[in-house]
Amino acid sequence: MNSQDLLNVAKEFGSPVYVYDAEKIVSQYQRLTSAFKKVKSLRINYAVKALSNISVLKLFNNLGSGIDTVSWQEVKLGLAAGFKPENIIFTPNGVSLEEIEAVAALGVQINIDNLSVLEQFGAKHPDIPVCIRINPHVMAGGNSNISVGHIDSKFGISIHQIPHILRIVENTNMCVNGIHMHTGSDILDIEVFLYASEILFETAKNFKDLEFVDFGSGFKVPYKDGDIETNIEELGKKLGNRFNKFCEEYGKDLTLAFEPGKFLVSEAGNFLAKVNVVKQTTSTVFAGIDSGFNHLIRPMFYNSYHKIENISNPKGRERFYSIVGYICETDTFANNRRISEIKEGDVLCFKNAGAYCFTMASNYNSRYRPAEILWYKGQAHLIRKRETFDDLIRNQVEVNLDDLQPKKEIAK
Ligand SMILES: *Cc1c(COP(=O)(O)O)cnc(C)c1O
Repeated sequence: MNSQDLLNVAKEFGSPVYVYDAEKIVSQYQRLTSAFKKVKSLRINYAVKALSNISVLKLFNNLGSGIDTVSWQEVKLGLAAGFKPENIIFTPNGVSLEEIEAVAALGVQINIDNLSVLEQFGAKHPDIPVCIRINPHVMAGGNSNISVGHIDSKFGISIHQIPHILRIVENTNMCVNGIHMHTGSDILDIEVFLYASEILFETAKNFKDLEFVDFGSGFKVPYKDGDIETNIEELGKKLGNRFNKFCEEYGKDLTLAFEPGKFLVSEAGNFLAKVNVVKQTTSTVFAGIDSGFNHLIRPMFYNSYHKIENISNPKGRERFYSIVGYICETDTFANNRRISEIKEGDVLCFKNAGAYCFTMASNYNSRYRPAEILWYKGQAHLIRKRETFDDLIRNQVEVNLDDLQPKKEIAK
């Protein structure tokens, strides 16, 4: 889809609005599967938390993808989208044993990432096979906020605790059918990832009933021109070969699993917002849009970069702008960005708005969450309505304060 298509969407559905290009999602999925075509059994489990709209989930189901979920609610969304329980993996962190049991009861693959829950679950349900999430203590990326492999990370069971795991498995007689790692969000260096994979293979040899080895995610996508991205084709070749060799050593054809979010949906997403005001101060030209961190929090939360284009005036002379929101807090999307000349009423397009954008939106400042559009086969389809005032007050309970009596003291 091109800029004119996006402008038409903004015209038809209003702003702010998220627009997802299905074709891009499909091509990313196919790029990943073809990179690993030498692997006999490959499973891609799309990480629902990146973008959880049910129509997007249906698209993944049509592609033959599975899903990776982190809450009971995401599992329910997946089931509602038509995924079979056996194509869902549950990889939570810090959730209760009850939630894990509830998800297991739906027939979903469980992935356990702490010793205490492993022991309790194994003792109660030795008949339900589980996957174990390992922390190989490898820092895959540069950004320590999104790297989860370090030694005091809350994610995964440390490789230094393998003896504990083995003792629990032996004592409870439970079955471990998968071994998993998810080292962080940015794989910049394939060699580092392969190194972590070796640790996972070494760990895997301890378990006799494996069906799959799950390498998590962390594929980096480009956000700006010249950004390094994970070389999927090279990773596919190197890890694919190594995996096939491991299966020979292990004596069984295992499934190689991945659970990417960002790689599959980030670049497919565009966030469109309208410029409310252009404000010239003594030092800066601000463009204030009809949105804020209530709709797109990544720039403020992770300091992440989103390319911004003025699709209303793509050929205009470039000037420097600071793009800010309408929230009564500092909510700067971009500082001193070169963007073609902005007039009030222009529509700005934020790129890479597919992953962790709408799913992190809130009602802060009592604003409505935006609409979502799926661009599919050359047409725009509304896949989530913009919220209305009713949505804001739906669960609020209005009490009549004047009628409330003070709590009576209990007589002794
Ligand atoms: C968030 C998450 C993913 C997806 O990560 P991306 O960087 O979006 O690819 C995969 N696995 C687990 C366990 C996660 O928590």
